[in-house]
Amino acid sequence: MSVGSRVRVRVSGRRLKGFVTSVIERPRGRTILDVEGLIGGFPSFCVDDLPLLRWCATHYVAPMSVILRRTLPPNVPKGAAQGMQRTVQTGLPTSAESASPPSGGEGFTIAQMVQRPPYDDAISELVAAAGSRSAVVVAPTVVEVEAIADRLVNMIGDRVVIAHSSLSARDATRAWVRGASEEGACVVGTREVVLWPVRDLGTIGVVEDARRVMRSPSTPTLGVREIMVERARHAKVPITFVGALPSLEVLARRPTVSIAPGRRWPLVEVADRREEPPTASPVLDRTRAAIAHAVRQNEPAIVLVGRRGHAATIYCASCGEHRRCRVCGAAASTTEACARCEATFSACVACGSDRWRSVGAGRGNVIEDLRRVVGDKVGDRESASLVTVGTERDLIGITGMALAVAIDVDGMAFAPNYRAAEDALRLLIRLAMTLEPGRGRRTLLQTADPGQPVIEALRTGDPSSFLSNELAARKRSGFPPFGQLIALEVSTGDDTVSALVQRDISPLATVRGPATVGDRQRWLIHGTDLTDARIALRQVTRTLRDRGAKVRIDVDPIDL
Ligand SMILES: [Zn+2]
Ligand SMILES: [Zn+2]
Repeated sequence: MSVGSRVRVRVSGRRLKGFVTSVIERPRGRTILDVEGLIGGFPSFCVDDLPLLRWCATHYVAPMSVILRRTLPPNVPKGAAQGMQRTVQTGLPTSAESASPPSGGEGFTIAQMVQRPPYDDAISELVAAAGSRSAVVVAPTVVEVEAIADRLVNMIGDRVVIAHSSLSARDATRAWVRGASEEGACVVGTREVVLWPVRDLGTIGVVEDARRVMRSPSTPTLGVREIMVERARHAKVPITFVGALPSLEVLARRPTVSIAPGRRWPLVEVADRREEPPTASPVLDRTRAAIAHAVRQNEPAIVLVGRRGHAATIYCASCGEHRRCRVCGAAASTTEACARCEATFSACVACGSDRWRSVGAGRGNVIEDLRRVVGDKVGDRESASLVTVGTERDLIGITGMALAVAIDVDGMAFAPNYRAAEDALRLLIRLAMTLEPGRGRRTLLQTADPGQPVIEALRTGDPSSFLSNELAARKRSGFPPFGQLIALEVSTGDDTVSALVQRDISPLATVRGPATVGDRQRWLIHGTDLTDARIALRQVTRTLRDRGAKVRIDVDPIDL
């Protein structure tokens, strides 16, 4: 038994499972419960991992036990050689090792490699740099993990350990044991592996950290980027982010940036809504013609629509101008006041008209519209039609397209959420990347505002001024990465909850709310440094739960 072991203990007659977090001499004169048995042969963390695990518990306002469970494989790793128990080390070096890191110096560095997917060069480079030490590479989806692992096998053979969320519990447990015990293992996995132990960890790679799936949607809302940076810092190993567009969160940490030569994504074209007669149709004539052409050539096309819940986009009925807030620039939804800054909307800035047309650009609408042009050649991804209409998640694994269309750039880029433009740019880059290289391949962006920064960055192929302007804007507003956000959601919204939040959290951070979200009340906690608020929030959560309320804490929320 050692730190990191899972053990059984009987407390007041109940058998409970626990983790060993320290081993001490039995104190005299105090009753200490006996450990009844050990569960599994492998400790899932070591003493040196505890600071990182405690950081996670604090940052995500989660009980330590919940965080510790994230170090475990799905099954109890049985059949483990007993001899291994002594040699297992977790990713963070023991004190003896950290005294002489192999690379010399501090070891912890942050790098951002900018290149086009599938990022073969970047990933092989970062794995090679770790030499004979182990590596962890986290990628967004199963498809991407498998593709990366396939290519790495050619380079380092059976050192590659695949660990994604579609593995059976048995295979995932086997992958966990390999990562925890084999020298020089290269664990390639989805976000579930962030806290898995890795023997003699030498380097960390993170692919497309800003993707929605790189963060757990349920509490604790563990984020791959935040945890892996802390893990690299504690382990004193380099961390490398890989992607076509760096996230502002990584850029704000001042990484060493290396940019692959050449254009990062294919050229894009604009379909300007204002150049066509105002229409309630989500698909413009120019786009319809391009899709009809692709179908005639028997070539595949992808049509990107917003996520479910994406509000209808509103345009001026006389001139086609996109309806936006005059104060903050957020897109108008169906209400009369801005969802971001609560300013009241006024007449069209371009022509003064106050007649508006709402264009529903959901998947169903767009498919229906395109059926009139290309009949049964259009459908959703499951239908495997020549023309696929889909959302962000349908882009995964799509390649070889002749035409890519974004139906509603404005609805995405001006959504009333502080990271809308950055997310839109990243998504549109992914859309453009679905094209097969070659002449005659097109990306069409439907917009009423071709001059907007997102489109400018896509057109020029150089997002550097977009990124620096966004960083400056975030700095001014104090939004991440220059500030921190936590959303608190409580199932009952009586006044006592508000009073509690007011009393315990408001002195420590800016608190907005409550807003009603479904059957819950939601508060947004915002500040430069929320450390004290996190500690207070832990107590508030406990109090509310004791009163029977359902409480959800969304740390670093991405949907506001
Ligand atoms: Zn107008
Ligand atoms: Zn506004």
